Amino acid sequence: MSDGPTYGFDTLQIHAGARPDPATGARQTPIYQSTAYVFRDADHAAALFNLQEVGYIYSRLTNPTVAVLQERLATLEGGVGAVCCSSGHAAQIMALFPLMGPGKNVVASTRLYGGTVTQFSQTIKRFGWSAKFVDFDDLDALRDAIDDDTRAVFCESVANPGGYVTDVRAVADVADAAGLPLIVDNTSATPYLCQPISQGATLVVHSTTKYLTGNGTVTGGCIVDSGKFDWSASDKFPSLSAPEPAYHGLKFHETFGNLAFTFHGIAIGLRDLGMTMNPQAAHYTLMGIETLSLRMQRHVENAVKVATWLENDPRVDYVTYAGLPSSPYADRAKRCYPKGTGGLFTVALKGGYDACVKFVDSLEIFSHVANLGDTRSLVIHSASTTHRQLTPEQQQAAGAGPNVVRISIGIEDADDLIRDLDQALAKACG
Ligand SMILES: *Cc1c(COP(=O)(O)O)cnc(C)c1O
Repeated sequence: MSDGPTYGFDTLQIHAGARPDPATGARQTPIYQSTAYVFRDADHAAALFNLQEVGYIYSRLTNPTVAVLQERLATLEGGVGAVCCSSGHAAQIMALFPLMGPGKNVVASTRLYGGTVTQFSQTIKRFGWSAKFVDFDDLDALRDAIDDDTRAVFCESVANPGGYVTDVRAVADVADAAGLPLIVDNTSATPYLCQPISQGATLVVHSTTKYLTGNGTVTGGCIVDSGKFDWSASDKFPSLSAPEPAYHGLKFHETFGNLAFTFHGIAIGLRDLGMTMNPQAAHYTLMGIETLSLRMQRHVENAVKVATWLENDPRVDYVTYAGLPSSPYADRAKRCYPKGTGGLFTVALKGGYDACVKFVDSLEIFSHVANLGDTRSLVIHSASTTHRQLTPEQQQAAGAGPNVVRISIGIEDADDLIRDLDQALAKACG
């Protein structure tokens, strides 16, 4: 099918990017388990290597199964192109790589996945990059944090794990006024609940490991490019606007126009960093995406039921879920996320750290794992696990204090989930 804007989300999540296999007619996208692709002749090979013709060379760069996933994600997010890679964390590095350089910084929200806080506050320093963390509800603080060396603004739409939702439009306006790209991690919302590009984001990154695949089988990541940023408007993005020595002085923006970031991601990013998604992973993720909207509807419905029940339980101190009327973000959630705010929230127990540990150990349907966005309900005590490397202040800022348990609500029967939580709370809180 041709992917026109006339098709709805539910149609595109099944069909975008896929066509019957030209060799066999196979209706499902085959897993092209091949490392290399035969050149028609030496001229064809030269044209591919010069980026004068698009085609398959070697699976570190491109693979037909991965390409279908790239096209599907670009379509669902409303972007012009996408680059898949080996994990969500790889996607973040791949997104920053063409923008940053030694001495340059990214201004990031304080409300991020714990692993991202560690990646940004520690590991990227090895590249000479740095991150400045600010509260993105304070737009003046965001404006003030941006300086001459800032090259990107970064946030999550629905933020993991604290029940916080970002007003992407408001943040995009600040980035835009500063002439900077906004990168939005849309992992927890998925394009079903939020399309950051329609609200002004330049790039969208995903951990496809989570809701997109949806069943906890493979890790993967993706960067979707809006194609809307003018990389040549300033001299801040020479990787995209200036001659590239590794391609005989080719200028990506001038040559590839609105696909500059996508081409750079493949021709430089995947070629030289090698954070490639394998075709098996792409296959599992394509399978998952076919049912994305159905699953997200049920995740939201179950999360609202379970969070409401927990909020009214005397053993519970508070629940942070932007989908609850009691949330300080309820109005923003309704305005910016009308289909719901996903399946993730945190619950704080009156019994503190000890009760939390007993609680997660007593659950029967919920699994205690470092993952989210699975069909199965999952739980984790962030302070002793994913957010362990953070300072107490960073834990609090991320909504992951010692008395807090993160819950990823699956698509099981909500009444069974509530019964399980009830018996575990009884054991944990006496
Ligand atoms: C899991 C996650 C990541 C990291 O993704 P991996 O696939 O585990 O590398 C980044 N951001 C968010 C919001 C996540 O949930």
